[in-house]
Amino acid sequence: MKSKPKSANLHPHTGKISVRERERRHGHRGCVVWLTGLSASGKSTIATELERQLFRLGCQTFILDGDAVRQGLCSDLDFSERARHENIRRVGEVARLFADAGFICISAFISPHRAERDIVRKLMNDGIFIEVYVNAPLAVCEQRDPKGLYAKARLHRIKNFTGISSPYEPPLKPEIELPTDQLTVAEAVEKVMGLLSKKCGVTK
Ligand code: ADP
Repeated sequence: MKSKPKSANLHPHTGKISVRERERRHGHRGCVVWLTGLSASGKSTIATELERQLFRLGCQTFILDGDAVRQGLCSDLDFSERARHENIRRVGEVARLFADAGFICISAFISPHRAERDIVRKLMNDGIFIEVYVNAPLAVCEQRDPKGLYAKARLHRIKNFTGISSPYEPPLKPEIELPTDQLTVAEAVEKVMGLLSKKCGVTK
């Protein structure tokens, strides 16, 4: 589902290279691996290891990470509900461009709202949106707290912090669920690689 452009005078050119041709050259399909979960659930850790393994296999891959995107493309957005929505909309569009370019785009965003993740899913062609629920209990995330954010949120120094003062809606039917309090990083990545081999033709 695309948002309606403001201008009525847009005439995008159709390119001369199809997605299929790009995918043939890359040796795998383009797709979006969308990692969602609480802060410190393990999204970035899993994303970077997944990217490393895919790159080693010769795959075209790139990470879109929440904190990085918020320093550039989305530096004008805060964590209000409206701004979070716009953040995910922009990132979803960028992820779609990467998938159209035949990349395995790994997106690591808390993306707390089910409806917004579903909007991103609907932007993509069928079957290429792979929702990965990086699921660690709040207590585990809070104990890990690698960036000290939960401590700050508990002291009310961060507003709208997911899991503490802002809701997180878990996916109802994710393509994969990774309970990172029970799996090692290697096991979690292995599970995603297994699905990528089935869905996108990634071969070891
Ligand atoms: P997020 O991107 O979701 O905010 P990070 O990847 O930045 O989370 O932080 C997760 C922390 O949890 C890291 O310090 C990581 O080493 C640790 N961790 C422990 N076990 C796991 C696991 N099985 N998967 C991912 N991260 C884990």
